[in-house]
Amino acid sequence: MNTVKSNGQNRVTVVGAGLAGLAAAAYLKRNGFQVTIVEASERIGGLVTTDLVDGFYLDRGFQVALKAYPELRRMVRIDALTPRAFARGFEVIAPDMSRHPVEMPRRPFSRGQFLDLLANFSVADLGCMAKAAPRLLRHDPQTAFEMPNQPTGDYLRGCGLSERTLEGVARPFLKGVFLDDQLQTPAAMAIFVAHNFLRGSAFVPSTGMAEIPSLVAQQLGNSNIRLGAEVLSVSDESVALAGGEEIGHDYAVLAIKPGRLATLTGETGIDTRCRSTSTHYFASEVDFAAGKTVLVASSNTPVATIAVMDLVAPSYAPKGAHLVSVSSLGMETSDEDAAAFAADALRTEKAELSHLRTYRIDEALPVSFGEGRAGRPYFRAFSRRVYLAGDFMENPSIDGALRSGRLAAEAVMSARWKSHRGDAPPRNS
Ligand SMILES: Cc1cc2nc3c(=O)[nH]c(=O)nc-3n(C[C@H](O)[C@H](O)[C@H](O)COP(=O)(O)OP(=O)(O)OC[C@H]3O[C@@H](n4cnc5c(N)ncnc54)[C@H](O)[C@@H]3O)c2cc1C
Repeated sequence: MNTVKSNGQNRVTVVGAGLAGLAAAAYLKRNGFQVTIVEASERIGGLVTTDLVDGFYLDRGFQVALKAYPELRRMVRIDALTPRAFARGFEVIAPDMSRHPVEMPRRPFSRGQFLDLLANFSVADLGCMAKAAPRLLRHDPQTAFEMPNQPTGDYLRGCGLSERTLEGVARPFLKGVFLDDQLQTPAAMAIFVAHNFLRGSAFVPSTGMAEIPSLVAQQLGNSNIRLGAEVLSVSDESVALAGGEEIGHDYAVLAIKPGRLATLTGETGIDTRCRSTSTHYFASEVDFAAGKTVLVASSNTPVATIAVMDLVAPSYAPKGAHLVSVSSLGMETSDEDAAAFAADALRTEKAELSHLRTYRIDEALPVSFGEGRAGRPYFRAFSRRVYLAGDFMENPSIDGALRSGRLAAEAVMSARWKSHRGDAPPRNS
């Protein structure tokens, strides 16, 4: 990266203090830019935030990080997040409410693991795994995105995966991870995530997912962070805040959701569809028949995942209590229904689950993504002074958001470098 040495032309406004905006700001700051972050809400972290309620740490939406995420590792020391790891693999809750563990093989593969695979999967399934293996075992998970765009369902059927495994394992897994009940998520994304799952465990920081943005924000030094400041419009020279204030800049990075981008800039042609989800939290004093495993539900229910959080990260619940997280697709599932399903899956009574709080998140995961890879790091309307970041630019994950922030920062640095040499693109071209 080219470090800016002069004081001219180095003011950057970053709109949005989610992981993408924070990452962009941290890289720019590290490279000598003068950064102002403008965030509409009252705290940093965007979709990755945690509330402390009556001694329970409630992530705003059940989510996990993966120790192998390459951008996360580039940005922070994983150990500094005090990671509390989930068991490898997951458990599928079948339509009859029976539970079936799905082991995640460890590398290097042992003879025992191979025999387990033989016992649990058909020859067709093993053939499919063998076809997918070269992509899964590559060193750089990002290479997954070089494959042609096709839905995971088509990819797996094309590999020869049996319908039984598709319905009984792949579909619940995709539903749990991508909120996608139809196997429509691009196969590249499924391979990217499976790749990272194979290389390291899923975890939550000991006191909640908000530790991740906090750790990134520590790298911002004395950057100016304006909370509770909503940006209403953007131009090459400034952003205008609700209330009338304008903040001038030489460059801007817009790290907000595609729907907001469209409103803010008038830019059309960007897919603004997002999947929504709800996370219902319950407290209980019962000792559950669950370990550190995430339970994923088969497709006949809106419930996607169940996890007893304190069995993974003890500080998530006060002493003597358990914290049950139940996530569901969309915004409709009632707390009653979520509790009934979870009680059944955890082999307890609904009355043993006392409702704490429910988070309903409308714009959770973008349906389509990869705008950055498709070669659109900026809007033409803005003469290469306004750059884009956000998970939709790369992929809908913590890792994708951080990567998009780094790439936007690099685009600004490159533009700054060119303008310094005198070959900047003319304004309004
Ligand atoms: C429920 C849920 C579960 C998830 N599970 C996982 C998981 O298990 N693993 C994983 O890797 N990823 C997961 N993700 C995805 C991951 O959290 C997101 O991809 C990532 O956090 C997106 O970051 P971002 O910075 O792109 O966007 P955001 O976090 O949405 O940040 C955008 C920020 O911009 C601000 N903003 C918007 N408009 C304006 C404006 N006009 N002016 C100023 N500020 C504005 C917003 O307030 C927000 O803070 C999950 C997401 C959700 C919601």
